[in-house]
Amino acid sequence: MLAPGSTIGILGGGQLGRMLAMAAAQLGYRCHIYCPDRESVAADVSAEFTCAPWTDNATLTRFAEQCDVITFEFENVPVEPLAALGDKLMPHKRALETAQDRLKEKRFAQGFGAQPAPFALVDGPQDLANAIERIGAPGILKTCRDGYDGKGQWRIFGARDADAIRLPNAECVYEGLVEFEAEFSVIMVRGQDGEVRFWDSAQNAHSGGMLVTSTLPASNLIQNQVAAARDIAAQVAEALGYVGVITLEFFATANGPVFNEMAPRVHNSGHWTIEGAATSQFENHIRAICNLPLGATGTRFETIAMDNIVGADALTAYDVLAEDGEAHLHLYGKKEARDGRKMGHLTRVGPAVDGAKRP
Ligand code: AMP
Repeated sequence: MLAPGSTIGILGGGQLGRMLAMAAAQLGYRCHIYCPDRESVAADVSAEFTCAPWTDNATLTRFAEQCDVITFEFENVPVEPLAALGDKLMPHKRALETAQDRLKEKRFAQGFGAQPAPFALVDGPQDLANAIERIGAPGILKTCRDGYDGKGQWRIFGARDADAIRLPNAECVYEGLVEFEAEFSVIMVRGQDGEVRFWDSAQNAHSGGMLVTSTLPASNLIQNQVAAARDIAAQVAEALGYVGVITLEFFATANGPVFNEMAPRVHNSGHWTIEGAATSQFENHIRAICNLPLGATGTRFETIAMDNIVGADALTAYDVLAEDGEAHLHLYGKKEARDGRKMGHLTRVGPAVDGAKRP
């Protein structure tokens, strides 16, 4: 067990790091943020901040010397320089290596029975034409690496769309468009002794590739598919020797769960766990990497809704506090409300699960 007062290093300085650091502070730990951007909403709530490029080996080495354990909140950290962190990194960098590449993660998950949408590697215009021919359209072309929140993705409705796309100078994957009834994620924590715990799966709604809202309870279709999806998640985590919170995203279809992607970290669709679960995803991630006993993950309310606050909406976010005394507002402290930027989230809860009406 990591002693109170120890320092947790976090690679990445965004809102996930901020909420991890807040959970770590509650458990008596200090956080040290490492990120290349001068503006870091995680550093705003942490004891220490190193602002340096991911590839700065000397600075990474010094950072590692100052931390007792190191984790990440951003999955696109270049993996090679992480050798400087030695065995302090948790989860292991092999989880990053797998999840950073859409092709690799699909093939990896397939090894444990996951069914992804039909997919093909695209490394040039001829590959794309062949992929559309084989898989059909509509489909989605995605860069294998560095995409998030719908960035690096192009919808393709037919061969003519394919001709119009200026292919990026990077490997892509073309995948068939899945006819899903709903989306959900499996969020799981795995301790250093291999114990696993799951949170209930929320029903996720996306717009333009970005999560908009997560609600509980999820539809019956999702609830019927969660067990199979959890089974895959547990096997993936075990094979990676994973420690901490891991997320796998699925489409619920008439033919069962279709695997979309995985994130080796806490996830936007688990933000509701801060108020809605006995222990939040952030706290359990910290508990796992610090080798503390994992907390209970049960859901505390009959209904829960988490809405992202995107772009300029944050300006009016406080209005909801007057309207709804049960609303839990989280603002991330980002200075610039650019369009499409996640500024915060709002969690609303219904009656407590034991049926007791809250006053
Ligand atoms: P991703 O970046 O892969 O998580 O995709 C973001 C969102 O785009 C997903 O949550 C879906 O709403 C949508 N999407 C991505 N891939 C597909 C697909 N193959 N079929 C249907 N919708 C998709």
